[in-house]
Amino acid sequence: MAEKPTLVKCLVWDLDNTVWDGTLLEDPNVELFPGIRDTIIELDSRGVLHSVSSKNDHDLAWNRLEELGLAEYFVHPQIGWGRKSDAVRLIAERLNFAEKAVAFIDDLPTERAEVNFHAPDIRCYPADEATKLSGLPEFSPEIVTVDARRRREMYQAGFRRDAEKETFNGPDEEFLRTLDLVMEIKRADEEDLSRVEELTLRTSQMNATGVHYSDAALRALLADPDHEVLTVTLTDRFGPHGAVGVLLLERHPDLWHLKLLATSCRVVTFGAGAVLLNWLIDQAARAGVHLAADFKRTDRNRMMDIAYRFAGFADDPCACVAVLGEPAGEGVQRLHLLADRREAPTTMRLGAPELAAAAGEKDAVA
Ligand SMILES: [Zn+2]
Repeated sequence: MAEKPTLVKCLVWDLDNTVWDGTLLEDPNVELFPGIRDTIIELDSRGVLHSVSSKNDHDLAWNRLEELGLAEYFVHPQIGWGRKSDAVRLIAERLNFAEKAVAFIDDLPTERAEVNFHAPDIRCYPADEATKLSGLPEFSPEIVTVDARRRREMYQAGFRRDAEKETFNGPDEEFLRTLDLVMEIKRADEEDLSRVEELTLRTSQMNATGVHYSDAALRALLADPDHEVLTVTLTDRFGPHGAVGVLLLERHPDLWHLKLLATSCRVVTFGAGAVLLNWLIDQAARAGVHLAADFKRTDRNRMMDIAYRFAGFADDPCACVAVLGEPAGEGVQRLHLLADRREAPTTMRLGAPELAAAAGEKDAVA
């Protein structure tokens, strides 16, 4: 079986003779090539971001993109007279994408060669292939979730958030309170699960167990009265962050077993992991049960390790864990905590179901 290609997360467009037919400085009314608008919109709907690297007068070019109704699709546009390889690498850096996840399209072979020379991981395409890109596997993610369709909107909200943060001088907690953060924890339904699938694939560094639960495995647990599959979304006054977390919990009579906790690295700075753990501990305290959590230390999930320890999880032996089998997977530790009541978070509003009700009272999930 052929190896799946690395997906393109951002496509950087040249403008003259690539997006539009002609040179803007010679013809201020240049028109789009046929099919370009559809290609941009189609890829955007799949969660592929668009950007621009064009040697042009910035204001003229941006105005023309606005007149053509396309400006809103481009993030971090680089329009000026510098080297295109610098522009494309800057875009990758700003988006925090690996260069191999970035593509560049330009009609001029010399520009493609220049980018290729300085940034060999960036995939370059000639302009006459523009309308064929949406048929290529590297532009065709297997799953297109609600969040993928809104990815550009989420990034754009992120840029506005960062810009505001730069002008804010107070301590972080104070800044967080200005964001009007709202976290919603809910029992997952079928649609939520496809968002969770993408989350667990994309954010392995924040997956505390290191054990991957497939869409099918989580789906099978939806109707299981002993399991809780919970998804977490976050919004603030700039817009949605989308699905940012997933928890899988198994109930035993005297013990709740946290089998999976994954959060998006996008929300680490908001302290989302700590808020989730504190909420869960409070729920366990109300239910009068102990908590056990599976944890696999990797060199990428240090933040999660800190969150667990800070919440009070430890390696202390406790008889309650005898009901659990061996940890699922090599190197998985089992942390334990005597649950106590916790305060509500001070940095965000929290909406969540009442888990403390007996397992039998859990609403049937279709
Ligand atoms: Zn115990």
